[in-house]
Amino acid sequence: MRMIDGRGHASALRAEVFAAAAGLCESGVEPTLAVVVPTDDEATAWYVRSIERTAAKVGIACRVHDLVGADISTIRSELRRLSADELVHGVICQTPLPDGAALAEVGEDIVPEKDVDGANPVSLGRLAAGHAAFPPATAAAVVHLLHQERVTLAGAEVVVIGRSIVVGKPAALLLLADDATVTICHSRTADLAAVCARADVLVAAAGRAGLVTADFVKPGAVVIDVGINRTDEGLVGDVDFEVAAEVASAITPVPGGVGPMTVAMLLVNTLAAARARV
Ligand code: NAD
Repeated sequence: MRMIDGRGHASALRAEVFAAAAGLCESGVEPTLAVVVPTDDEATAWYVRSIERTAAKVGIACRVHDLVGADISTIRSELRRLSADELVHGVICQTPLPDGAALAEVGEDIVPEKDVDGANPVSLGRLAAGHAAFPPATAAAVVHLLHQERVTLAGAEVVVIGRSIVVGKPAALLLLADDATVTICHSRTADLAAVCARADVLVAAAGRAGLVTADFVKPGAVVIDVGINRTDEGLVGDVDFEVAAEVASAITPVPGGVGPMTVAMLLVNTLAAARARV
């Protein structure tokens, strides 16, 4: 069994972003990401700090806009303002939002050219139509890891657990674009284990610790664990790592798998958005 080293792949990607960002800076453009933070949620604060730290390392300016306590209309107008700001190339909005609002609702206020985390439903629609669009960073991270690990996707059976618009659906669309035969599972899927056991590549993005056990994994399958669950034992994924690792040919750990790649992909998207403006 091969452990997929998300930290290693993320580090290689950051080096590429660093070189390209330096080139852009020399031509007078400082790639800039604006992060709107409408919550004081601890996990979100941790994620935002990790974006800030990584952006600083690769030479991308990261501006955090603290909107804790703001109502939805204030958040939306800030996203519109940032969308119109010539000095900002990428705009993202963190969750949870006030009043249980969905990200897709406020995502409409981020213009697709700056929608570097694929929050605008237009971006998802463009992905579905096969047009150029920024995919959500996590979905892009899943596919990038598979590419880097040289996993054959054309003709492969891929099962994605989770149908959210930030992870499951866009990951499935990207994998479909790579000619995989994709099945999307969700909380109402009948006999989840049997469907997953067909997969050459299994992507788990349900947010349920220990959901994926050995009987979900076809011998030799590649398993990508997107889940992040806080438990008494610390951070764990959706996959029961010890037992799945006995059956899989390759598997991502949590932490150290998809997580580090997500931040790197966000910065890849920001760089691409800045380049497109030059
Ligand atoms: P979500 O709650 O929006 O969606 C979860 C999906 O999983 C839903 O479609 C639901 O139908 C499905 N699901 C839930 N329980 C299930 C079950 N028992 N069986 C089958 N399907 C089930 O979550 P999300 O935003 O898509 O995130 C999913 C997971 O990925 C979470 O753990 C989240 O923390 C993690 N995540 C990780 C990263 C990263 O960088 N690694 C980024 C984003 C999200």
